[in-house]
Amino acid sequence: MASSLSFSTPIHTKQNPFSYHSSNPFFPQLTHKPSRSLIVSCAATTSSIEAATQTSSTTTISSKSLPFRVGHGFDLHRLEPGYPLIIGGINIPHDRGCEAHSDGDVLLHCVVDAILGALGLPDIGQIFPDTDPKWKGAPSSVFMEEAVRLMHEAGYELGNLDATLILQRPKVSPHKEAIRANLCKLLGADPSVVNLKAKTHEKVDSLGENRSIAAHTVVLLMKK
Ligand SMILES: [Zn+2]
Repeated sequence: MASSLSFSTPIHTKQNPFSYHSSNPFFPQLTHKPSRSLIVSCAATTSSIEAATQTSSTTTISSKSLPFRVGHGFDLHRLEPGYPLIIGGINIPHDRGCEAHSDGDVLLHCVVDAILGALGLPDIGQIFPDTDPKWKGAPSSVFMEEAVRLMHEAGYELGNLDATLILQRPKVSPHKEAIRANLCKLLGADPSVVNLKAKTHEKVDSLGENRSIAAHTVVLLMKK
């Protein structure tokens, strides 16, 4: 997931990962009841977070909501021989894949981050820390399920999503529809609102030299 942030920052060591939204005047009304997975993943990081999460799990955050919320996600993974290349939950034949704590699905990771970002929540690396053995080899669909659940819990649905994959090889076009269809399934969204693009990196830098893969995603969430 390549997150540069961790719970070592004061806001995350001393508070429930969601609690700082109470100071955000634009966060929607949300009676948040963190799921078991969130509590467990936070607890694995620090016991203080577990305590904070559980004690505030019934807190009601009341603030002005927005009719639309925009989120952006970015992710990059190193490509190494001997690993499967999984993009959008689809196993793509290639001579290398992503070395990562989970299944290294760069597309699903950045979609999750875009949704979390739109909701004003902590990023994927904070909610599912790669230091937690629980997530070792985990299919990234579990992260998607949690992001979608949080989106609905906050009272939003997907307006539309636009994602761009960046990789030199292999060609994405033969797999594009399978990836998009799986993305729609995981999001519970109509294909007309889920767009996927792919481009090379003109053979320059690690992306262009088949040493890494990256993805960008923008989502628009709409108040239900
Ligand atoms: Zn990732």
